[in-house]
Order: sequence, then C-alpha cells, then structure tokens
Amino acid sequence: MKKLLSIAITLIITLQVQATAPVKQWGQLQVIGNQLCDQQGTPVVLRGVSLGWHNIWPRFYNKKVVKTLKDDWNATVIRAAMGVTTVEDNYMDNPTFALQCIEPVIKAAIKNNVYVIIDWHSHEMHTAKAKEFFTIMAQKYGKYPHVIYELYNEPVEDSWEDLKQYATEIITEIRKYDPDNIILMGCPHWDQDIHLVAESPIKGFSNIMYTLHFYASTHKEYLRDRMEAAIKQGIPVFVSESGVTEASGNGKIDEESQQLWLDRMEKLKVSWVCWSLSDKDESCSMLLPRATSTGPWPEDVIKRSGKLTRSYLRKYNR
Ligand code: MG
Repeated sequence: MKKLLSIAITLIITLQVQATAPVKQWGQLQVIGNQLCDQQGTPVVLRGVSLGWHNIWPRFYNKKVVKTLKDDWNATVIRAAMGVTTVEDNYMDNPTFALQCIEPVIKAAIKNNVYVIIDWHSHEMHTAKAKEFFTIMAQKYGKYPHVIYELYNEPVEDSWEDLKQYATEIITEIRKYDPDNIILMGCPHWDQDIHLVAESPIKGFSNIMYTLHFYASTHKEYLRDRMEAAIKQGIPVFVSESGVTEASGNGKIDEESQQLWLDRMEKLKVSWVCWSLSDKDESCSMLLPRATSTGPWPEDVIKRSGKLTRSYLRKYNR
C-alpha cells in the first residue's frame, strides 16, 4: 500500500512538472508531414500569448512576465514581437534597444522551459537586416530547443514568389548555425493567402511552417476553410498571431467566431498565439494601463481579451 502511495505521489509530481515545463515535456520540436510534433514524433499543439510591439510596450519585456504567462496563464509558447519598422524606436532605428528588450524574454523562456517565438515584426521586406538579425539569433540561441524563429510577421505588398526568395535566403543562413529549430514563414496579405503557399511551398528545408493570422471578428468561415484546405494539401500551419477582435485590433469581440476558430484548430492540431499583452485603449489589449509590468495580475486589471485568452489557455493547455 505504501509502495502504491509513493508511486501515485511520484506520478502526480511528474505530471505537474510536465504540465508546467513544456520544453521538458516535448523537447526539440520537429515537423512531420503537415504536423508540429515533439522530439518523439508525437503531434503537439502549442498555445500562448504574443507580447505587443517591443518599442511600444518595452515594460512587458521582462523575465517575470514570461513566468506569469507560463505559470498563471498556462501558456506553452510566448511570442516576442520585435518591431522592425513603422513605429518609432524600432529595430532599424535602434537595434541595441530591441535586443535589450527581447533577449531577457528569450533567456527567461529558456530558464522556465517554455517555447519562445522570435518574431521579426515587420510589414515590409528588409532582407539584409533580417538575415543579419537571424544569424545572430541562430548563433546565440540555436542550440536551445525553446526557440522558434518567425521570419516575417505580416507581409502586405510582397508576392509569394518574392517571399519565397526572402525565406530561402534567411533559412539558408539560419541553418548554417541551427540545423533543426522550427522556422515560421509568413504569407501574402497579412498571412491570409495560405492557399498560395499550398500551391508552391518552399522546398529543400526541414522544420518549416507557415503562418496564418486571423482576427475572429473579421475573419470567419472562408479563412477557416482556407486554412483547412492548405493543411489537407500537406502544408504545416502555425497561427502565430490571432485576436478575438476585428483585424484592426479594436472593435467588437466575437466570442462565437473565436470558438469556431478554436474548434477548427483543435480538430486540425494547429498551434496558436493570441495578440496581445499590452495596455492600449483598444479591445485586443489584454491589460489596463495600471497593470504592473510583471504580473501576476489581479482580475480587475485584466481586460476582456485577456480574460478570454487566459480562459482558453487554462482550458486547452491542460
Ligand atoms: Mg537547434
């Protein structure tokens, strides 16, 4: 009886450790066919939170936020959205500051055994700078299974042919230093034209996935169907950004459409990340301005988008 009890206790402790240390549980991720899998080749679904632009919300780029999102919100992946252009004090203007923001997040993810997406948060193509940046990241962090590279947040104007060329150049560079970590690549029109990827995927590399972004209040059945069709054509899809709001990040929250997205992603075993941990006066922002920079956050500073995201993470990341 004593022995049984001790086995039961060991089992409970093991399960708890696994539940709170995704990288310990799943290890070096890999893509098999159209599916993200763990080190053993078992399908895995990551679900998590994207920080907002580093240059607008640098205050949330700290190690305690990573721990709060993992331990309190149950995120298994955290996305560091490094602003490259558009908003001032971006990576192009001030690379030192950008690295000062994202590196503590990457290091905290490694320490806490949670996956981290290094997101080149751009809407325009800057091949040389991206190549330089990802070379540094791969050299420094490629040996850690925690790290996922996202090469291009949301292309707006570029054709898929141009994006393929861009991706090929950067993947070639990353693979010189990191042979295996997952690489995410965007597709035309804010990551919605996944059907163009399905017609002509990037060839010659392993562990590549393609990003689809949705905002539940704007993007409905047609985009869910488009995602499913691409997956059925063999395309590995990762929803590296999504929101419960309209595509602007503001406006109506559509819980019904969000649930349809969650149901579809669960069915297809698609990983997702929700936008964003920020304190702007818009409906996708998860926190109020008076929320602390570290968390854990009490109920009264978490906005509706944050409460919904946290409830999905607690429900599905069990
Ligand atoms: Mg590696």
